[in-house]
Amino acid sequence: MTARVLIVDDIEANVKLLEARLTVEYFETLSARSGQEALQICANEGPDVVLLDVMMPGMDGFEVCQRLKADPKTQHIPVIMVTALDQPSDRVKGLEAGADDFLTKPVDDLALITRVKNLSRLKTLTDEMLMRASTSEQMGMGGEEADDAANAGLGGKILLVEDNTRSGERIMATLSGDQNVVLEKDPQQALLVLPDSDYDLLIVSLSLSGTDGLRLCSQLRSLDRTRNLPILIVTEPGEDARLHRGLDMGVNDYLVRPIDKNEMLARVRTQIKRKRYSDRLRNKLDESVELAITDALTGLYNRRYMEGHLKTLVEEAVQRGKPLSVLVADIDYFKSVNDTHGHDAGDEVLKEFAARMRQNTRGIDLACRLGGEEFVVMMPDTDLAKAYMVGERLRQCIASMPFDLPNGAKISVTASVGVASLEGVDDTQDGLVKRADQALYCAKRDGRNRVVADAA
Ligand code: GH3
Ligand code: MG
Ligand code: MG
Repeated sequence: MTARVLIVDDIEANVKLLEARLTVEYFETLSARSGQEALQICANEGPDVVLLDVMMPGMDGFEVCQRLKADPKTQHIPVIMVTALDQPSDRVKGLEAGADDFLTKPVDDLALITRVKNLSRLKTLTDEMLMRASTSEQMGMGGEEADDAANAGLGGKILLVEDNTRSGERIMATLSGDQNVVLEKDPQQALLVLPDSDYDLLIVSLSLSGTDGLRLCSQLRSLDRTRNLPILIVTEPGEDARLHRGLDMGVNDYLVRPIDKNEMLARVRTQIKRKRYSDRLRNKLDESVELAITDALTGLYNRRYMEGHLKTLVEEAVQRGKPLSVLVADIDYFKSVNDTHGHDAGDEVLKEFAARMRQNTRGIDLACRLGGEEFVVMMPDTDLAKAYMVGERLRQCIASMPFDLPNGAKISVTASVGVASLEGVDDTQDGLVKRADQALYCAKRDGRNRVVADAA
C-alpha cells in the first residue's frame, strides 16, 4: 500500500519520529508545522490520511479538523487526531470536530500503522466511489453516492461476541446511539450464524472464558462468505503477541481495555463505512458490467458482446476442427406493428420474441439482440443441417402462437431466418455473419416467414 500521509505537528522532533516509522512501512509522508500550512497542503496535494497534532500554537488541531471537514474538497480526507493520554476530553472534542480516529502520545507503533492502514484503505474506496459518482453524474445518472457518504458509518448491523455480561452491556450502551448491536455470548453460535447473515461488523472479545476468540476470527477468515466481514477485537493491555497474531490473520482493527468510548465509536464507524463502500462498489461494478454486455429491453447479449464472443468461438472451432453455425433472425414487417399498435406494443413483441428465442436454444448457444428487430444465435458444435433445424423450430414457434399486446390484443408475428456455418480454416467471423445475412436476405426476398441456409 502506498498511501500519502500528512504529518501535522509544530515540533520538528515529533514530525521526524512519525516520518521515520511510516517510511519503514513504505508510506509516503508530507509534513506541515502549522494548522494553516496543513490546510494548504490538504487543498493542493490531497493526502490520503492526516495525522493531526491537537496542541499547536495559533490554529489548533480541532480547528484544522473542523475546517477540513467543512470543505467539500477536503472532507473525505481521513483525519487521525494525536492527543495527550491524560486528556480524554480531547477525544470528545475531536469526534465533534469530525476526526476519524485517535492516537495518543507517546504514539505506539502498532497502533499508528493499524490506524493509518485502515483509514487509507477507506480513502481508496471513498475516492473510487466519488469518481464513479462524478462519472455517472456527467452521464446524467444521479451520482447520489457523494450525498450520503457522511452518514455511511452509522446504523450498521453489528454482532458482539462477549461472554462477560457487564462488559457486553457497556459496549452495547456506548454503540446503541450509532449502531444496531446484537450480543452473542457463544462464539460457536456466532460461527453458525455469521455466514448466512448480513452483519456489517463483528466485535470479538479476546477475554472469553474457556475459548480463544482468535480461533473464531481465523475460522471466519477461512470461509468464503465471511472472508470480507470486518472484525474488531477487544484485548487486555499487554496482550501484544495475540494482538499481532490477530492482525496477521486479517483482523481489521482493535481496541484495548479499558475501552475509550470515543475511540470505539470512531473505529466502528470507519469499519462500517469501509464495508458499505466496498459492498456498494462491488454491486455497482456488477451493474455496469451487465449494462455493458446486455441489451436492456430483452436481457439478451448485445452486439458488442456478440462480436467479441464470436471471435473466440471462431478461433476455437478452427483450432478443434469443430463446426460452428450462426443464425440471424429478423421480424417480418415489424414496422407495421409499431405503426398499427404503437411503440410500446412493438417493445412487448421484441421481449416475447427474445423469450421464445431463448426457449429454442441450448445453454451453450448464445442469443443476442443485434439492434432493432434483428437477432443472432451463435451455435458452437452445430453444423448447417442442425442449424437449419433450429431456425425452422424458431420460425414455427414464432408463427404458430400469437403474441399478446399490452392492451390485451393478440397479433400474429412471423420472422425470416438465415443460417450459415463456418467453412474451413480460412473462414472468418465477418465472412460467416455476412453469409448468414445474405441467407436472411434471400428468405425475405422469397416471401418471408421462412428459413434459408447459406449455400456457399
Ligand atoms: P422486413 O420484413 O423487411 O424486415 O420489414 P420491417 O418492417 O420489419 O423492417 P424495417 O427495417 O423497415 O423496420 C424495422 C422497424 O423496427 C423500424 C423501427 O421503428 C423498429 N424498431 C427498431 N428498434 C425498435 C425498438 O427497440 N422498439 C420498437 N418498438 N421498434 C423498434
Ligand atoms: Mg424486419
Ligand atoms: Mg430490419
